[in-house]
Amino acid sequence: MTESASQPVFRFAPSPNGYLHIGHAWSALYNQRLARESGGRFLLRIEDIDAGRCRREYDDAIREDLAWLGVTWEEPVRRQSEHFDDYARALRTLRDRGVAYPCFCSRAEVARAAAAVPDAPRDPDGAPLYPGTCRGLDRSEIERRLASGREPALRLDLAAALALIGRGLSWREFGEDAAGRVVAAEPGLWGDAVIGRRDTPASYHIAVVVDDALQGVTDVARGRDLFHATGLHRLLQELLGLPAPRYRHHALLLDEAGAKLSKSARSKSLRALRAEGAGAAEVRARLGFS
Ligand code: GLU
Repeated sequence: MTESASQPVFRFAPSPNGYLHIGHAWSALYNQRLARESGGRFLLRIEDIDAGRCRREYDDAIREDLAWLGVTWEEPVRRQSEHFDDYARALRTLRDRGVAYPCFCSRAEVARAAAAVPDAPRDPDGAPLYPGTCRGLDRSEIERRLASGREPALRLDLAAALALIGRGLSWREFGEDAAGRVVAAEPGLWGDAVIGRRDTPASYHIAVVVDDALQGVTDVARGRDLFHATGLHRLLQELLGLPAPRYRHHALLLDEAGAKLSKSARSKSLRALRAEGAGAAEVRARLGFS
């Protein structure tokens, strides 16, 4: 069911694979402020698609830490784990449209194939582009591999997808400049990206475009590290007949050494700041939100 899109709808969408750090806090406060200033709604979406890395403990901690910080969101909390059927339907649509194919290569095989090619191209996250090994498999070979119990991932057939759309795509980026500017989407940077993972029922890219449409999200404000992913998201939206939200890719907070804050680098979590006695008002003020 699509929720009403008559008002602007913003969302903060953390993955429960660690505690929130102050970079997340900034993004949540920013989304909340944009929603308030525009008379819009503000959703919290827990991106718990990756069962291997997500933990209930972090899910609870995210809500507790945001509440402590003074962030309030519209109930109910949205969760990706409640939408696996929607992701499966989207992947089926892409297969039916002839723009997705099963891929049986392991990560190590892709890395080996890329290593054999000098200066093999890489995607914006630094992973080698898929060399297309499984793109041409015929039906009987696919059946044979499936029958032998091999679990495939699903990849986007980029060339077929671009041919089907047949025109350049773009999105509207709103930064400090409220008028917005048009950014040309470059989905080709990702090659034949994985859109259905072997270990989870979809992929970040599919889940995020399906969820944003399903939840009527009109405005996506997220970190600049996802700027290039938006090019791929625009292509998926177009292939699936989904609307394009407005985007704001904000700067990432850096730590004292100038490195990007991330949960994996054990950056200072909101919990740790709290445990050290910091007050919520003080943290908000430090982040520029009074
Ligand atoms: N779940 C993603 C993250 O925690 C954010 C995705 C998004 O905002 O589109 O980095």
